[in-house]
Amino acid sequence: MKVFFLFFLIVLPFISATTFWSVQDSSGDVYGALDLTESDFKLWYSQFPKIVNTTISSCEIDIVADRDTLLSLYQHGRLTINSITPLHTILFKDFVNTVVANSETPRDLISSVTKKAALQLFSMYSGVDPQKVQYEPNLSIEEYEKRALIVLNWVKSYIKWYNQECLVCGYSKTSFLGMQAPNGTEKKIKCDYDTEVYHCPSCGSYYRFPRFRNFTQLTNQAFGRCSEHSKVFYTVMEALGYTPRYIVCYCNHVWVELFLNNAWYHTDPSEAFFNNPYVYETHWGWKLNWIFGHEPTSVVDVLSRYTHHYSDCIKRRAMSQETLDKILNEANEILNG
Ligand SMILES: [Zn+2]
Repeated sequence: MKVFFLFFLIVLPFISATTFWSVQDSSGDVYGALDLTESDFKLWYSQFPKIVNTTISSCEIDIVADRDTLLSLYQHGRLTINSITPLHTILFKDFVNTVVANSETPRDLISSVTKKAALQLFSMYSGVDPQKVQYEPNLSIEEYEKRALIVLNWVKSYIKWYNQECLVCGYSKTSFLGMQAPNGTEKKIKCDYDTEVYHCPSCGSYYRFPRFRNFTQLTNQAFGRCSEHSKVFYTVMEALGYTPRYIVCYCNHVWVELFLNNAWYHTDPSEAFFNNPYVYETHWGWKLNWIFGHEPTSVVDVLSRYTHHYSDCIKRRAMSQETLDKILNEANEILNG
């Protein structure tokens, strides 16, 4: 897992110049790619039948300066992006709505299944009696930890790590062709803002890996990465009576916090960690910037809970506290509206 993610973290979040490949279709519409190799770009656009003129061009582009154009291409499904950093830079143009969309994740999860059905599925797949791990008030933190770890360990083992094997034929050495905006069908099933696109050299398929927010689909699929682990854990814990919060770190990771004995506790369903909040900075070496806690109707800045080097993280953001407060206020107004 870490190789895929750490690659992005080594790249400083605010490098905005990157290679932009482009090609036009027969109607003059531009298709583009950020950070892809030339051969992967060719492989990617070959799936679009309207692209007949294959004169491609490349240039260094300033993502910040050209965000409007890039955002429009992305929203129309005509831009593919190899790494999360340029994607975030583009989406920052629309930061309020990006933040709001992340609070829609827990909202969609809760509304995707009744608590009773979620607990039935959890019990069936895990073999755990929900009554033994459910929330009860005034337990010791050790008891909460014990209960949470039973669910955390189940999520980690049940949701298999997705290593981009072909979803059509199962072949393992596929080519990742970038992240794209969800298409119409994927939007209907409430997907996150990035759908991964792959090409399989064995069966020739182009296939998509959408990141949906439906508990039944997620547990039926039973594979994914941190987002799928966290969505499943969030839904189970909520159904068990806990108060969870969905945490989005703009270093390309998500996890969950639980409100226990009047305090929030960190958990990481991809790793089965309980109360190990500094692991990302201290052990994984991540340079943290934005970390938000999302509940269905609110979002808060939780960065300070995860770093011993808060002022360095703030500098890395290159955004004033005043601007961030304004963004979060706007997002909270929309979520409460
Ligand atoms: Zn295949």
